[in-house]
Amino acid sequence: PAMVGTVEEKPKPLPLAIGIGGMVSGLREVYESGRTKELEWRQSQLKGLIRLLTDKEEEIFAVLHEDLGKNRGETFRDELGILVKSIKYTLQNLKKWMAPEKAESPLVAFPATAMVVPEPLGVVLIFSCWNLPLGLALEPLSGAIAAGNAVVLKPSELAPSTAAFLAANIPKYLDSRAVKVVLGGPIVGEELMEHRWDKVLFTGSERIGRIIMTKAAKTLSPVALELGSKCPCIVDWLDSKRDRQIAVNRIIGAKWSTCAGQACIAIDHIICEERFAPILIELLKSTLKRFMSKPGGMARILNEKHFERLSGYLDDNNVAASVVHGGDIDPKTLKIEPTILLNPPVDSDVMTEEIFGPILPIITVKKTEDCITYLKSKPKPLAIYAFTNNERLKRRIVEETSSGSVTFNDAVVQYALESIPFGGVGHSGFGQYHGKYSFELFSNKKAVFKRSFLIEFMFRYPPWDDSKIGT
Ligand code: NAD
Repeated sequence: PAMVGTVEEKPKPLPLAIGIGGMVSGLREVYESGRTKELEWRQSQLKGLIRLLTDKEEEIFAVLHEDLGKNRGETFRDELGILVKSIKYTLQNLKKWMAPEKAESPLVAFPATAMVVPEPLGVVLIFSCWNLPLGLALEPLSGAIAAGNAVVLKPSELAPSTAAFLAANIPKYLDSRAVKVVLGGPIVGEELMEHRWDKVLFTGSERIGRIIMTKAAKTLSPVALELGSKCPCIVDWLDSKRDRQIAVNRIIGAKWSTCAGQACIAIDHIICEERFAPILIELLKSTLKRFMSKPGGMARILNEKHFERLSGYLDDNNVAASVVHGGDIDPKTLKIEPTILLNPPVDSDVMTEEIFGPILPIITVKKTEDCITYLKSKPKPLAIYAFTNNERLKRRIVEETSSGSVTFNDAVVQYALESIPFGGVGHSGFGQYHGKYSFELFSNKKAVFKRSFLIEFMFRYPPWDDSKIGT
């Protein structure tokens, strides 16, 4: 009953327009009734989400395997486990976040009190992406619910099993009058954007992000865009063998074992000193051999279109000549072997587009600190990573470059922290969520100022004369 639209889209969107319009006004009525504002409602919905994730664990493993060939360990690490942890954190802190915050008030206003009172925004819309089809849907959904909103979730049609799972189960575990799942692709997405929303959180590509923002301008719906970028990873000369090995483990984790590199914060490419590149490549090769020894170690490429895009990078002769590891592709299983490139041309597609797959270019520089100039010459990414023990370099990266996040001596794991914001800057997007930041994204910080009739100063009123200046 909560399903509006279907995965296979019909060319005529008219019936959907009626369906979606009715749904939105229904949600407004529910919101206006006040039910979603109650602490108890918010808590019960968050608990419902935890129950859904626990009861349906096996089904979740199955749908993510169907959509992306993800193995259970990866699904647990990146989606299920993180979600349960994050929702529990929200439940623990919700009362505190909802409490009005006292603010300073000026002496001339005495006696008075100033407060910041968080209130829900109303009816919000969430677009999620296919690469973490559960996490990128339920993480923002939990934030929108925690903030007391009625919500529409539009999962990505490109992960159809997960989308169908969400549409079938969310109404069973959550209040189906206030939380809806709408299935469909671009036509349904555009149709949804014909309506006014109190917030739209969009996760996806820059191209569609522009469409969302253009459409949102017409209804003056505020948006948060979680987009993509080329996340660079600096690997400094590391003296200790142990540090080198740990760095390589974590690089492999953040490239090939995170949805086969199909993640917005996956490492896109590495920057290291020329003299360190051969050492790094050898260690990557031997560790990959160990980590990927069993079948199913890596998710598959989403679909043929993405497979062709990625294998197309290797069709470029200059790029193919830079392959130092891997390069095998299998169109039948949509698998691309973990592939390492050494200094592909800087103007090749693989170095100008977001890779979003299991190909890892290594770009060499004379000295590690040269990376600062390199980073500053590129658009601001979602994340910058650096494996280094050099405190000066760490300081310089934080102070001289701009990105949604910076992580030292690890990668991707910042996504799992509720205590720091997740989001982009510049072309990688705007609007931050996770933990309290999700609550704030979906809330209005209402300024409340209370005065009394006790004291009255006449200098603020006409008739004006100079004696009223500077009193
Ligand atoms: P996309 O931009 O094509 O789709 C995202 C969502 O938009 C889907 O729900 C889709 O149905 C919907 N959509 C598509 N066309 C639409 C239209 N015309 N109107 C309204 N809605 C429409 O997704 P993609 O290109 O496959 O995603 C990959 C990109 O997403 C990469 O750039 C990646 O970095 C980025 N991404 C960012 C994050 C993040 O958190 N910042 C997370 C995952 C992916």
